[in-house]
Amino acid sequence: MAARQPHETDGIDALKAALPAQAWTQDTDIIAPHLSEWRDKYFGKTPIMLTPRTTAEVVTAVKICAQYGLKIMPQGGNTGLVGGNTPQGEILMSLKKMRQIRDINPIANSIIIEAGATVQTVHDAVTPHNKIFPMLISSQGSCTVGGILSTNAGGNHVLKYGTTKELVFGIEAVLANGDVFNGLTNLRKDNTGYDLNRLLLGAEGTLGIITAASLKLFPKPNHTQRALIAIESAEAAVNLLEPLRAGGRLSMFEVMPAIGYRAVVDNIASIRDAFTKAHPWYLLVDWDVDSHAKGQALAESLLAPHLNTGVIRDAVIAQSDSQAQDLLAIRENMSAGQKFLGGSVKHDITVPIDKIPEFFKRANKAVQDIITNCRPVGFGHFGDGNIHYNIAQPEGADRETFLQNWDALSQPIFDIVDSLNGSISAEHGIGIMKKDDLARRADPVKIALMKALKHALDPDNIMNPRVMIEL
Ligand SMILES: Cc1cc2nc3c(=O)[nH]c(=O)nc-3n(C[C@H](O)[C@H](O)[C@H](O)COP(=O)(O)OP(=O)(O)OC[C@H]3O[C@@H](n4cnc5c(N)ncnc54)[C@H](O)[C@@H]3O)c2cc1C
Repeated sequence: MAARQPHETDGIDALKAALPAQAWTQDTDIIAPHLSEWRDKYFGKTPIMLTPRTTAEVVTAVKICAQYGLKIMPQGGNTGLVGGNTPQGEILMSLKKMRQIRDINPIANSIIIEAGATVQTVHDAVTPHNKIFPMLISSQGSCTVGGILSTNAGGNHVLKYGTTKELVFGIEAVLANGDVFNGLTNLRKDNTGYDLNRLLLGAEGTLGIITAASLKLFPKPNHTQRALIAIESAEAAVNLLEPLRAGGRLSMFEVMPAIGYRAVVDNIASIRDAFTKAHPWYLLVDWDVDSHAKGQALAESLLAPHLNTGVIRDAVIAQSDSQAQDLLAIRENMSAGQKFLGGSVKHDITVPIDKIPEFFKRANKAVQDIITNCRPVGFGHFGDGNIHYNIAQPEGADRETFLQNWDALSQPIFDIVDSLNGSISAEHGIGIMKKDDLARRADPVKIALMKALKHALDPDNIMNPRVMIEL
């Protein structure tokens, strides 16, 4: 628990008095899972966890926090990977009890849903309407609408549908003074001034608390044809992107190196190798097509020329939904599988797609110059130029000693990314983990504008104050 100031105690008492008993807890057993995260990198503390059930309860809580100067950290599914979801003494506000579906409109192709609903809940709600919300993300059973909006999450369908920012009509949010901004529209055209919705997207809870969103839906493709393709190199993957696009039908283009692939298929009991032989790299693709038969024909016609020239070493074209699911499970478990390799220094970077091979060449050399036998595991959304460039510890090394090299290994990577006009955060955000790097590396004009916006919307700096930028 954080050491409490008298002022803080008064504020917490006021919160407890103003909110219903179901909307807060100080039970340490209930709070505990909210104080650590997926990577076991951050561990936190909070004097109280608020669990509001309505926007009105969020407003009540925010107004009291503002009055007493209490800092607030919003939390959704707690799957964030940059430390922005682990409180260090802030009031923790979990949105998990706000998960109502307010409206589904199949004609406008929209759903209005509260921020604490998981992404899986959105999928389940729209499937009966023959629609999709095109956010395919391994954490979708836990991560929430508020979380994906606040981090501008990416996932496996960005190639075709864009990041979360492209998938939202508007939001409802409680601002630092307790005002409710209502942008819950499903208008495709609205040129009435600044786009205030966008300001809060990717803001990681620093400008307000998102309480609901109007999300964009799309017609469900008749059939999705999946294939897992064995290839020689990262360069081969990049060279296949254009030939496999198939006139906009390509909706997923995910790449895995042998070390990551093996970490999954050799260690996770429910998953098996799709091939009889080992290969250096693997490429997982989806095409949206009209039927199973057309999917088979398309896959065969697109892959055959490259099998003949040797660019493709082998391929498994999914024959059924369950086989397609098995192939996706390999990719979805890349993060879980890497836990079997020991400690891992992780990066989520983007470079222009054609620079991916150069990035690997320079990055692998840079990190192995620092730690000779470290093992790069660069995988992910190559169709978006997004590489999860992780560096696993040398075999047999001590995990904690290796992880002390996090910054030493990261800086050369970020230097290479900068030199290629890339981004040090592709889809996970800045959080605590990359705050100093952003401050050091971003355009000073951009940082000044971010600070000015933060001052304007949250002058007392109560909204997730340790995250993203230092005032
Ligand atoms: C196995 C695994 C796979 C993943 N794969 C991907 C991937 O492919 N692509 C990708 O982009 N990310 C991925 N992630 C990261 C993570 O799932 C996303 O960042 C997700 O958007 C976080 O959602 P959440 O609800 O868990 O948010 P949290 O982790 O709870 O919070 C994340 C940030 O958003 C803020 N926040 C949360 N809710 C609100 C709200 N209602 N209002 C204001 N601020 C809020 C928090 O304060 C915090 O700063 C993965 C994570 C895991 C564990």
